[in-house]
Amino acid sequence: AMDFTQSHLWQQRADAVILGGVNSPSRSFKSVGGGTPVVMARAQGSRFVDVDGNTYIDYLAAYGPLVLGHAHPRVMEALRAATYDGILYGTPTTWEVEFAETLRAAIPDLERVRFVNSGTEAVMTTIRVARGATGRNKILKFAGCYHGHSDAVLVAAGSGPSSIGVPDSAGVTRAIAGEVITVPYNDLEAYDEALAVHGEDLAAVLVEPIVGNFGIVPPERPDYLAEVIARAHRVGALVIFDEVITAFRFHYGTAAQLYGVHADLYALGKIIGGGLPIGAYGGRRDVMESVAPLGPVYQAGTMAGNPASMRTGLACLEVLRDPAVYRHMDRLGAALEQGILASAQRHGVAITINRVGGAFTVFFGSHRVRDYAGAQATDGRRFAALFHALLRRGVFIAPSKYEAWFVSAQHTDADIEETLAAVDASFAEMAATS
Ligand code: PMP
Repeated sequence: AMDFTQSHLWQQRADAVILGGVNSPSRSFKSVGGGTPVVMARAQGSRFVDVDGNTYIDYLAAYGPLVLGHAHPRVMEALRAATYDGILYGTPTTWEVEFAETLRAAIPDLERVRFVNSGTEAVMTTIRVARGATGRNKILKFAGCYHGHSDAVLVAAGSGPSSIGVPDSAGVTRAIAGEVITVPYNDLEAYDEALAVHGEDLAAVLVEPIVGNFGIVPPERPDYLAEVIARAHRVGALVIFDEVITAFRFHYGTAAQLYGVHADLYALGKIIGGGLPIGAYGGRRDVMESVAPLGPVYQAGTMAGNPASMRTGLACLEVLRDPAVYRHMDRLGAALEQGILASAQRHGVAITINRVGGAFTVFFGSHRVRDYAGAQATDGRRFAALFHALLRRGVFIAPSKYEAWFVSAQHTDADIEETLAAVDASFAEMAATS
């Protein structure tokens, strides 16, 4: 059995100084029935090791950035090189230019780009830009999508046909939530109804093109995103794709490119930093030109475009340039999907898996999950049981039924085999105790 003594001790110290013992609420084990969050010490490749010396195959990928796994040699080399030249200048650098050129070459829709420090900042700014550029106030978002923790997006679906949102966090005012319209994803009828009521006041429609935040949920209809965009444009609203999770996740570029569509603005983050803090936003030149110093929309940042993030990001994208990386993750993702489904069937556990490439979510339920309501209807207690059973067997997945498993470029066939054995033992245990 695994020993978690050191994790417990560190977590006790953490509780006394860090609010809630964690620096992001998703790291607590609250949504998997409690338990002490495991304190990690080091990582390499597909695995990390905790302070008690336990090793785990990592499918958390730090909630997405680690598409190359831990300590990828090319990224580490870039990071070390960055430290030889100082850390921060507060002036333009060559690295940010090269990085912007690289992003633009991969994503031609990024006619102009700006770097920030997190996905939250990226999305927050695209909303301000859309409001500034259109002179309108309202934003339409999709229930269950997560867009960071700025006020405008900590808004949940309200009840009633007008789709006006309500605060999803204390401290977010009703006035702010009232400017956010929320409709179900994958539902063009509800979308049309909201556009009919609010269209003239809409600055932007904000969407995760392939949802990653109530589990992996892709568009059901191949033309869904094209329709979302066309109908938004018909009422004069801009379209913002939040690709913080999806950009460079499934191929060398955006989810928009996979569906052959063009948003007006994009928010990026996670993978593009190679593991260092980063965010970026950009898009249509005419819209971006409303941002300072050219235009009246203000946005700034002391750490924006910091050389270390630029250099690790560049290194990461260089590795991802090779399509074999994505073929590898897709193949391992498919093997996991098939193996987990077979194992669940063997033990009479009802699950459904949504997968895109190397990212997938195991939902406890036999219904198809196409929207937030569908994800909410899955069994959180069974998910918690799987989470803890896997943890004890050295497989680390995110402690939430709404998250994805992320396969990285450094996962191996042996990792998949070991994982599937752990999954099978976990399902056997769950079947025996339920
Ligand atoms: N948008 C999406 C789609 C995300 O998944 C996240 C983070 N999970 C964010 C925005 C916020 O990014 P960050 O945590 O870097 O602020």
